[in-house]
Amino acid sequence: MGTKQVVSIRPFIRTTYAFEKLRICKRCGTYTCLWENECSSCGRSALVSVQQRAASKVKRRIARDIVLTTLLGGAAVYLGESLDQSMLAASVTLLLLGLLAFMHKRSFLTEQLRQMKRTLQEDREAIRQGINRNWALVAEARKEDEVLAYEMLREIGSLVYNDRIRLQQVALLQSFVLRSDMDLQLRPLLLGSFERLLAEYIGEIARLKPELIREDAIRYVANYEVQILQLHNGIQILTAVVAAAVRKSKYIELFPSLITRYARFIPKDRFMRLYQTLERYPGKARGGLAESVARVYNERYREQPVDAWS
Ligand SMILES: [Zn+2]
Repeated sequence: MGTKQVVSIRPFIRTTYAFEKLRICKRCGTYTCLWENECSSCGRSALVSVQQRAASKVKRRIARDIVLTTLLGGAAVYLGESLDQSMLAASVTLLLLGLLAFMHKRSFLTEQLRQMKRTLQEDREAIRQGINRNWALVAEARKEDEVLAYEMLREIGSLVYNDRIRLQQVALLQSFVLRSDMDLQLRPLLLGSFERLLAEYIGEIARLKPELIREDAIRYVANYEVQILQLHNGIQILTAVVAAAVRKSKYIELFPSLITRYARFIPKDRFMRLYQTLERYPGKARGGLAESVARVYNERYREQPVDAWS
């Protein structure tokens, strides 16, 4: 294994919806999920977010409605046979314009969202091609700057879910020295099959950021326990994950046999937490977990004076 690089990774900007990462070129319609200023296809600075794009389409439609209403109203006023008729036509037109403005103001956001959904649906192929263009740039970037390549993959991976992109990210992350103050991810990187690099990454995350170890990551480790044990640091990985898992009683209840096998190796403060949780909620311990924890407790920690625990 080569030496790892010391790097700093930019924080990941999270959005409510994945499509908020997309921008489209107003000139040529090319999509991108990266942060370039100029369109990589036509070279113009004409990239706008899909929300902006949808908003301007809705505004254009509103403008068209207003122009049409005004024209029709104007014609009615002009064609009125008496002053009264013309006055009536003018009043109706003004009323309609007011109503139109009120309705559009009320439904603008809904309209924008609907327009956005329609555009995303219609442009599916263009979006796919745009993201593929982005992905093709990663290989180039990787030769020069591996952090940049990782950051690009992270953006692409927020829109495209496939194991190749996940594995490329994990491989790059495992060539960096990871720190707890980095904006790291785990859930989006979980693969459908066993990968040594991912198992090692999970082990590191369990030590650096145990709060990222959730049910799906514990399940991954539990499913591939046999393969992980064959790694030179397999027991350390499993122990770190179990140490992170015991922080929630839900995980204790879900993975009793995994916890039973590695509880004896986890740090004392973690073990005491497990012991106390089981004392408080005896129902959480299934499949011999309570007996095993009690045995380890009696063997290792019981003889010590109580004040040494804290
Ligand atoms: Zn363009």
